[in-house]
Amino acid sequence: METIGFIGLGIMGRPMALNLLKAGYPLVVHNRSQGAVKELVNAGATAADNPAAVAKQVDILITMLPDTPDVDQVLLGSGQAIKNLRPGTLVIDMSTVSPAIARRVASAAREVGADALDAPVSGGDVGAQEGTLSIMVGGSKEAFERALPIFKVLGKNITLVGEAGAGQVAKAANQVIVGVTIQAVAEALTLAKRNGVDPAMVHQALMGGFAQSKILEIHGQRMLDNNHKPGFKSRLHRKDLSIALEAAREVGLPLPCTGMVRELFSALVGQEQGDADHSALVKILENLSSPNN
Ligand code: NAP
Repeated sequence: METIGFIGLGIMGRPMALNLLKAGYPLVVHNRSQGAVKELVNAGATAADNPAAVAKQVDILITMLPDTPDVDQVLLGSGQAIKNLRPGTLVIDMSTVSPAIARRVASAAREVGADALDAPVSGGDVGAQEGTLSIMVGGSKEAFERALPIFKVLGKNITLVGEAGAGQVAKAANQVIVGVTIQAVAEALTLAKRNGVDPAMVHQALMGGFAQSKILEIHGQRMLDNNHKPGFKSRLHRKDLSIALEAAREVGLPLPCTGMVRELFSALVGQEQGDADHSALVKILENLSSPNN
């Protein structure tokens, strides 16, 4: 089995790395804070002090980092991971970042005789733990086929979408639908509540019709329960909508609903609710309509 390097052991990366270990892959790990590193080492992984040290000893290098500047720093900047790859290594960035950096990583990898895939995921922490993530991939068919046994450990719905950056474009599209739909659910349930109709009954009534969705079911329920423990943090969803808006701006495409929802996430972050679940969008609406809610 190929040796895998894994950098970024947070909410998503830690369980994904554990699943790879359980599947029998030799694993070299690195993370900024050391808690998850110790857990992985206890489970059989080897620790490396920095990204370059990981890169030097693996066949496949996976990153699962928060944002575009983090991937830039670890792979291309002072982390120097790509410069230290052995020829023939495959880099798989599974973070949600801009399509532009996915293309830059692919081109830097080619320069050192390596290959790269962008492979962001959907399915949250539960999908990461259960190995049921949806994985959206950009890159060559050969690299995709090499990575497929690894993807099958981590996920279920695995799609080669297109060339480098295409996986990140698919993920941005996913986040547009999720964000705008959360706002629609927030508006629908608040409409019911402010008209004196029990929003829980409206939620139940809508679950059988055309408005039915996973987001109505799960995020709608969180709104009814006033439970906004993440889940997926609002500030990360704001980041993802900014990626979508930037990709749209580059081609002169307006995304009016996405822009509005991004600004509502900014309001949540401004109210120090950036770590609240994205279903907390409903709080902004409630505050707009009545300060006593
Ligand atoms: P997270 O919990 O913040 O984890 C990120 C990890 O990366 C942290 O352990 C962090 O270390 C580490 N890190 C950051 N910069 C580093 C560096 N320079 N060198 C080494 N390690 C570094 O984030 P997450 O929720 O796992 O999300 C990771 C990515 O997946 C994001 O792009 C996110 O948008 C995407 N995603 C998340 C979800 C979800 O439900 N959470 C779902 C789908 C996709 P520290 O411990 O020191 O902070």
